[in-house]
Amino acid sequence: MFFVGAYLSLIYLNLLDTPVPYLELFTSVIMLSGGLFVLLVINITSDSIDRIIKSQMAVMQKDSYDDLTQFPNRKFFYQHAVEYLNRALNNSLNGFALVVMDLDHFKGVNGVLGHHTGDALLKSVASRLKVLDIKDGFLARIGGDEFGLILPYSDAKQIDEVISQIHEAMETPFRVEGHTLNVSLSPGVATYPEHGINIDDLLMHADSAMYTAKQKQTPYSVYDPRSSAVTYHQLELQVMLQQALQTMPFELYYQPILDMKNESIFGLEALIRWPKEKGKFVSPELFIPLAEKTDAIRKISRWVLQQAITDLAEWQKLPLCPTVNINLSARDLDDHTLPDYINDLLATHGVSPSQLTLEITETTMMSNPERARPLVNRLRQIGISIAVDDFGTGFSSLSILSEFPISEIKIDRSFISDLENSPSHQTIVRSTVYLAHGLGCRVVAEGVETAEIVSLLEEFDCDKIQGYHLSRPLCKDDLSDWMNKFSQTSLVNLSEKLEQKKRRHFNNIPPLPYSEQIPLSTECLPVSPKKNH
Ligand code: C2E
Ligand code: MG
Ligand code: MG
Repeated sequence: MFFVGAYLSLIYLNLLDTPVPYLELFTSVIMLSGGLFVLLVINITSDSIDRIIKSQMAVMQKDSYDDLTQFPNRKFFYQHAVEYLNRALNNSLNGFALVVMDLDHFKGVNGVLGHHTGDALLKSVASRLKVLDIKDGFLARIGGDEFGLILPYSDAKQIDEVISQIHEAMETPFRVEGHTLNVSLSPGVATYPEHGINIDDLLMHADSAMYTAKQKQTPYSVYDPRSSAVTYHQLELQVMLQQALQTMPFELYYQPILDMKNESIFGLEALIRWPKEKGKFVSPELFIPLAEKTDAIRKISRWVLQQAITDLAEWQKLPLCPTVNINLSARDLDDHTLPDYINDLLATHGVSPSQLTLEITETTMMSNPERARPLVNRLRQIGISIAVDDFGTGFSSLSILSEFPISEIKIDRSFISDLENSPSHQTIVRSTVYLAHGLGCRVVAEGVETAEIVSLLEEFDCDKIQGYHLSRPLCKDDLSDWMNKFSQTSLVNLSEKLEQKKRRHFNNIPPLPYSEQIPLSTECLPVSPKKNH
């Protein structure tokens, strides 16, 4: 504007009564162009500054917010928590709480309905949390299915109210891509300064409280230092396990499985034992999950396979030859060399693949069906049977199950142990047997502890039983005693039935029903399943 003004006054002064002053005019044009140039530069510069600010904001957004839910991410959550900590250190805050919560059974949703549905569900959960508008709370998505919340108080009552609010928000089932899904969250709470004086400790303790809430299925859990003793014990066990893997001091026990339809067949489930001092064992329920966290489980699985197939080769010489079930873990499903390893073992020991069944838990199989499929198909090609273990405890889809070449479904013992007193479990077991038979699978009931349960299972048309009623898992010496008794009983039963058959033949009595018939050509002998050994 200054240049333009100068130019106008120059023209005015010089054009009044003199001839055209070219020099002044030229100067004015230069001044005008200069003015325009400066205007242009200012314009371009402010545009660039705008763009720089916008792109910086986008980088900040990307750096601090989660793409899927638009919630602050873990980094931002952490920074915010540090601010709260500083405020508490400056005495402008009395205390604060970190809440860590994840979606229960989210792996199942991802595995069965796909990651797309899983993502859509996370978005819906985030929207419900957002509208809650928790007073003074800072919400973030801090992991796959994990949300974090910072509250500027550590008062138990206030925290309890907020968590109730969150649970209420999840009560209505979610409609996601045509599916109706029930979602629950397991929150774990750690407060400053009671449960930690730095953010790392607080986060770790809130995380550990979250696992306690999950395990105990409580609405939420506040960090309890005693649970850290468990963590410490686990660390100790982990170190011991690493040492044990050098010498493999494990033993293999076997638990009998009886066929209720064809009494001439029996099986054994191989169960690993880790001897401790004075005839005690570290429970596989403790050390197998630890081994599953690393590749240690692969070494263990191969050890079990080798032992069991060697034992099978030995038992083949007996008149009664059992089949053997072996448990596989999630990590074994990624081991593409495993089928060939098993095939070689079977060939070396002259054992038929039909003598072997591999058990994969329902949760493992369903948490990633695509991962399980190639290995399962390859094992079936070899002729090895596949069983779904602990059926009923996972998030299963029968349609997916039907796509797998499964021979056996093992109903989890939580449905069997109280079968006499639980009408709902009776319905579940009866329908599972019906559906499994429809899919061409046999059904094994795990955890059979009483004769009454055996009768009910017979009524439900269940195929096989396993449990303390028949026998606990046995070491090899005790197992050979059990097998001897089993053979003797079977021989008596067989000769009785042969006698009956002869009498029926001579007296022209109609033949026995199919289930009572004896496969005369087989070397295997019948037994009474109700006998408690
Ligand atoms: P699982 O495969 O479901 O094995 C059955 C478990 O139920 C065994 O526990 C067995 O002792 C127990 N059981 C059997 N009948 C009854 C009964 O009537 N009542 C009760 N209360 N329990 C009964 P165990 O041997 O402690 O094994 C626990 C789990 O550890 C197994 O569950 C399996 O998931 C895992 N496991 C055991 N051995 C191995 C192994 O060699 N490899 C792998 N990957 N996992 C194993
Ligand atoms: Mg099993
Ligand atoms: Mg089981």
